[in-house]
Amino acid sequence: MSSVLGRVQRVRHELKFRELTVVRVRDVTPHLRAVTFTGESLADFVSPSFDDHVKLFIDTGADEPARRDYTPRSFDNAARELTLEFVLHGDGPAAGWAAQAAPGQRVRIGGPRGSFLIPLDYAWHLLVGDETALPAIARRLEELPAGARAMVVLQVPEAADRPALASAADLEITWVADGAALFAALKAMALPPGEGYVWAAGEAAEMAELRRILVDEKGHDKRAIRAAAYWKRGATAHHESLEG
Ligand SMILES: Cc1cc2nc3c(=O)[nH]c(=O)nc-3n(C[C@H](O)[C@H](O)[C@H](O)COP(=O)(O)OP(=O)(O)OC[C@H]3O[C@@H](n4cnc5c(N)ncnc54)[C@H](O)[C@@H]3O)c2cc1C
Repeated sequence: MSSVLGRVQRVRHELKFRELTVVRVRDVTPHLRAVTFTGESLADFVSPSFDDHVKLFIDTGADEPARRDYTPRSFDNAARELTLEFVLHGDGPAAGWAAQAAPGQRVRIGGPRGSFLIPLDYAWHLLVGDETALPAIARRLEELPAGARAMVVLQVPEAADRPALASAADLEITWVADGAALFAALKAMALPPGEGYVWAAGEAAEMAELRRILVDEKGHDKRAIRAAAYWKRGATAHHESLEG
């Protein structure tokens, strides 16, 4: 069997900016709010990977708008509707905007500028993340076909904030409340045989430790890990891909 490690693929998209209007707001959980946007400019919007992000521009009254990254949770081209899901973490322009979002409001988005395509046919998939990764992981689980095997470790403190996740894949979901429990769950996990791919996103320091556990303690091939810092405690608008 040829190796699937070399088959992850990066594709570039022409960078476009779009003015969108909020059509719907729905609370997925008490701290995760889905906002659906529409606009004719979405006619040529593409998001081929659950790992994609768009840049959301938020007017804060300062000279420049705040820019924050969000995952296209779902996109319906026929309806021209794009849905993003926001963690209501309480302290920041994007979380604050989402907390007051209402139909009729207008926002600007840019991207996605590129996509990182991870094949579906690994022997197993390990998906790890905190609440900011829930939109990407929920989307990936919806995209995985029957017969795929997915282990999911999700760090979400409150039981009420743990949504039901749908997938045709064989799923093993572990919910944990904090970083210590996340690391313990990873250390206790026996990675299955065969070529597997790990996708992870969450807080910067926690992603660095996750990567260390998988590579140094579990001996997992670092080329088969994509671990991204989706935010950093004490920093604003942090985005980093942990490589090497
Ligand atoms: C590629 C990518 C995709 C992402 N997709 C999503 C997504 O789909 N949904 C989503 O909710 N987030 C997502 N994020 C994370 C989101 O961009 C950050 O959480 C962002 O910092 C939020 O902006 P803000 O204006 O609310 O807070 P900021 O102004 O950036 O930060 C203000 C303060 O809040 C802290 N903070 C930031 N985020 C959190 C958090 N989640 N929990 C607790 N404290 C926090 C910061 O450390 C800082 O102290 C994604 C990030 C990346 C890089």
